[in-house]
Amino acid sequence: MELQIGVVGLGAIGRDHVKRLTERITGCKVAAVSEMNEEIGRKVAQQYNAKFYADGEELINSPEVQAVMVTTWDPAHAQYVLAAIRAGKYVFCEKPLATEVSECETILAEEQKFGKRIVQVGFMRRYDPGYVEMKQAIEDGKIGLPLIVHACHRNMNHAATMTSEMSIKNSGVHEIDIFRWLLDDEYVSGQVVLPRQSRISAGEGLQDPQIMMLRTKKGICIDVEISQSSGYGYDIQCEVVGDLGTIRLPDPPTVITKTDCTRTTAIMPDWQNRFIEAYNIEMQDWVDRVRKGEKLTGASSWDGYAACLTAYVLGQCREEGGTAREIRFPEKPEFYK
Ligand code: NAP
Repeated sequence: MELQIGVVGLGAIGRDHVKRLTERITGCKVAAVSEMNEEIGRKVAQQYNAKFYADGEELINSPEVQAVMVTTWDPAHAQYVLAAIRAGKYVFCEKPLATEVSECETILAEEQKFGKRIVQVGFMRRYDPGYVEMKQAIEDGKIGLPLIVHACHRNMNHAATMTSEMSIKNSGVHEIDIFRWLLDDEYVSGQVVLPRQSRISAGEGLQDPQIMMLRTKKGICIDVEISQSSGYGYDIQCEVVGDLGTIRLPDPPTVITKTDCTRTTAIMPDWQNRFIEAYNIEMQDWVDRVRKGEKLTGASSWDGYAACLTAYVLGQCREEGGTAREIRFPEKPEFYK
């Protein structure tokens, strides 16, 4: 029997995931969709032969939905994740798990009360073949002891609503998660350094770019540039420096064109194609494990909480003038080990 999935939120990634689940992922069916914009919601429902719900919580509680996917805007994530846990249904939530640390704490408490890990957070980079290969090489000792990470996350442009806080909580959160996973480490302190303001992204409430500096328990120092308006494309870079060598995330392969004494290669404009393989692998793994009732391997609610707490501390640091702040995690519950 195919896993009957209900998708809440049909923005850019919601519609992408509905298409992916229908056309690419095996063993599942999008049974229901929910969207605030009723016209879009009904259109997508009709296109994919799914039931439309105007209310996300009604979708979650409906008997035909076995598992839930949350792809609304960030501030609505916690509400739907909690509704799914309370309905006893597996839930895949796009990143971030929530926008507030207190919401993450409620999710952790409710999931533990339920007694089984049923939440996965959409940190898809953990499934990207480039990052997976880097992690394996680091674990195999190929670069020796990891010492430093240099990284950058450049978006081509940003919505008018983008703020300095969202730049870290929405974009930077991918970086915050991936280094914890890549290095199998935890943060102990963080800092935000603000360079000169870009003229392109100048706007009310957006300081751009920002540099996040993180230090881990093992003593690894990480610097990540977060830019919301590179102007040239979507560019994700990551280099880990060890005491025996370095390892670097590859750029996505694109053809090289040579004309007029010039060599050019295309740069992707956004996340949709850059991480398409990661999304496909992530979602097939999630569907397979949910169907078999196996332990989920993707980012857990604890990982979502760790990323949210780190982003919160970095935000505070920026507001208070940039002095480094301690990042203190409570003891990780046995449930999440
Ligand atoms: P988007 O195109 O702006 O869509 C946001 C969706 O949320 C829309 O369906 C919107 O409805 C809905 N929404 C807005 N307010 C809501 C509310 N109060 N309650 C319920 N739904 C509400 O954004 P997107 O790019 O699809 O992003 C959606 C989520 O996916 C975000 O959390 C984002 O962080 C995440 N995301 C993850 C990745 C990744 O790489 N893993 C990439 C992109 C996005 P309307 O259409 O009516 O406004």
